[in-house]
Amino acid sequence: PLAARRWAQLTEDDLAARLSALARGLQADPARADVLITLHGELGAGKTTLVRHLLRALGVSGRIKSPTFALVEPYELTLGGQTVPVWHADLYRLTRPSEWIEAGLAELFAGRGLRLVEWPERAGAALSRPDVAVHLDAADDDRRTLQWLAYSPQGRALLELGPDEPA
Ligand code: ATP
Ligand code: MG
Repeated sequence: PLAARRWAQLTEDDLAARLSALARGLQADPARADVLITLHGELGAGKTTLVRHLLRALGVSGRIKSPTFALVEPYELTLGGQTVPVWHADLYRLTRPSEWIEAGLAELFAGRGLRLVEWPERAGAALSRPDVAVHLDAADDDRRTLQWLAYSPQGRALLELGPDEPA
């Protein structure tokens, strides 16, 4: 990776606070929101929880559902006066390639905007290398350790928003 960050042993409240700081950075520089972020970790690791806190902090006001059945939930954000499309995908139940085309995943994979993908492994080669990969591990019942890895200059620019210690 081009850059790495580690968020160690965070409670959910700690996580929400760091994501709020990240969201403030994105409000100030919306171009950095144009990234494909893959989320890695076991069932219950906190992938959806991360997305919920991030989208809430970015100003999504309605319900933020887990896209386990729909595969993708789209949102639209206004960041610094710009409209930014947001796609939250969970590919756990992806079975056939035609399914991801029907669900609008081709747009997600090729398009712009903030794109957050749980279980990216399920898409195999259809999903290109992310700008940022986030690996979540349960330290115990209520703490998680996150590793953020940037694989593109755009991903590195996102990690530069902080808000923490470099890995
Ligand atoms: P799946 O693979 O099933 O989609 P997931 O990785 O999306 O799982 P979540 O649905 O986010 O996992 O569930 C994580 C659960 O762990 C939530 O109930 C959340 O409240 C809880 N939790 C406890 N502590 C933390 C923490 N420090 N950070 C994130 N989530 C936490
Ligand atoms: Mg989930």
